[in-house]
Amino acid sequence: MDRVATIEQLAARRFDLLVIGGGIIGAGIAEAATAHGLNVALVERGDFAGATSSASSKLVHGGLRYLQMGDVRLVREAHQERRYLMSVVAPHLVERLPFLFPLYRGGPHRPWVVRTGVLLYSALARAKLNGRVSTKRALRLVPQLRTEGLHSSALYADARTNDGRLTIANVRGAADRNAVVLNYAEVTAVRDDGADVLVDGQTVRVAARLVVNATGPWLDKIRRLEDESAAPSVRLSKGVHLIVDGGEGWSAAVTIPHDKVRVSFAIPWEGKLLLGTTDTLHEGEPEDGRVTDEDVRTILEEAGEAVRDLGPVRASFWGLRVLPGGPGATANARRETVYTRGPSGMLSVAGGKLTTYRRIALDALEQLGVRDLNRRPRPLPGATGLAQIPWPMELDPTTRGHLLHLYGSLAPEVLTPALEDPSLLEPLVPGRPDLRAQELYAREREWARTDEDVLRRRTTAWLAGLDSGDVSEVPAADPAARS
Ligand SMILES: Cc1cc2nc3c(=O)[nH]c(=O)nc-3n(C[C@H](O)[C@H](O)[C@H](O)COP(=O)(O)OP(=O)(O)OC[C@H]3O[C@@H](n4cnc5c(N)ncnc54)[C@H](O)[C@@H]3O)c2cc1C
Repeated sequence: MDRVATIEQLAARRFDLLVIGGGIIGAGIAEAATAHGLNVALVERGDFAGATSSASSKLVHGGLRYLQMGDVRLVREAHQERRYLMSVVAPHLVERLPFLFPLYRGGPHRPWVVRTGVLLYSALARAKLNGRVSTKRALRLVPQLRTEGLHSSALYADARTNDGRLTIANVRGAADRNAVVLNYAEVTAVRDDGADVLVDGQTVRVAARLVVNATGPWLDKIRRLEDESAAPSVRLSKGVHLIVDGGEGWSAAVTIPHDKVRVSFAIPWEGKLLLGTTDTLHEGEPEDGRVTDEDVRTILEEAGEAVRDLGPVRASFWGLRVLPGGPGATANARRETVYTRGPSGMLSVAGGKLTTYRRIALDALEQLGVRDLNRRPRPLPGATGLAQIPWPMELDPTTRGHLLHLYGSLAPEVLTPALEDPSLLEPLVPGRPDLRAQELYAREREWARTDEDVLRRRTTAWLAGLDSGDVSEVPAADPAARS
């Protein structure tokens, strides 16, 4: 459906559910709601996944540090979700990844504490991979591992993903079941029977029986559209990541401990190395974050504790964690999901993790009174038939692997126009495996409107660190930079 027709539908239909916010939580709720037969509209003021949901550490994980914080339930649930995502929901997008936890002399943890923690974590993960690793083996897994002062290492397993594409896959899942989905559409008023949406310069009245506020860092702003006197319910914490060259030959990520609770990561991701993250209280508007020199210095210093010969910084991005309000350091705050109902019935969903988005979505539907919830995992578009993909043409193994990872069994759909126009098989940008066919697909089938939508959230072209109008300079969570 083109944009004009979508806007007409938005104005004409009466929806069971209007979801505000097209990050992973809003997209996940829309996907789950359509699977339960609801007539759904999903609106996003910027691009889908344009904020936090493309600025995460890209981990689908139980969270070793949550275990240290005593949150066994959260870890168990997250592990279960990780297994569902890897096996059924999006096996093309969520890949298992071993993690090396190096233990240096004088480090913040006693080795037996870490080894016991890793054993418990692995038991909760139902993973066979755990235990102590020799330095020789550690170096085989992570060739750039710093070995001076290394006492031993522990090994456990989690998973990595492409967060932006996981979000788009959920939007697509909802749209395939007849949801009206629209990006660059901002909710400006919340009413008893729906909301006003500003889209392409005009205000559209959207009629909906139920409204969900899944706007992440903007949660309290939307709550105040419904109830001017709504008190703040969440705190925000900024997390910055860097992309550097490197990661070749790595078959594990590195978990780097900094104190009793906080760790940072060096993760081989999409052919680069992802470093981060920071955790600093963010005060002020959600739009007003930025990557400071101090953030960059901290990340490089912390990564350098365990990784040597770090390559040049190619890109940086920041995002905001939404934490339940309350005192204390943000790194120690519990990563719980908070559901609140406003006076006209709007349900606000805050916090939680990318990893548990599916569970959060189902819990939200339960809160909304949806009956006979089916909690079994469902494949997202592209997640089935991965073993027998009918490729329309010969491709080199790198390109094929890349397309399989990003689109799963939808990859032939991306490539089909290239049968008529072979120039679509040319690289989108030099040095990356993305093809021009992906740009066409992004604009025609995946609601991309700007270059940044294409380069940053539909493909991995931004990782080339483009110079002109440098997308690597555009913070992923900065909607102002998108308009
Ligand atoms: C630094 C960092 C690292 C993280 N790493 C991990 C990790 O490795 N693994 C993990 O599981 N989780 C991780 N998380 C958590 C995870 O990224 C978030 O829980 C998740 O992305 C939140 O998604 P969301 O949909 O709630 O928010 P968002 O993705 O921020 O989406 C909210 C959307 O609402 C839109 N919106 C705002 N106002 C309006 C309006 N008026 N009308 C319409 N739309 C509006 C915004 O534009 C935005 O796109 C991390 C978070 C951060 C910040």
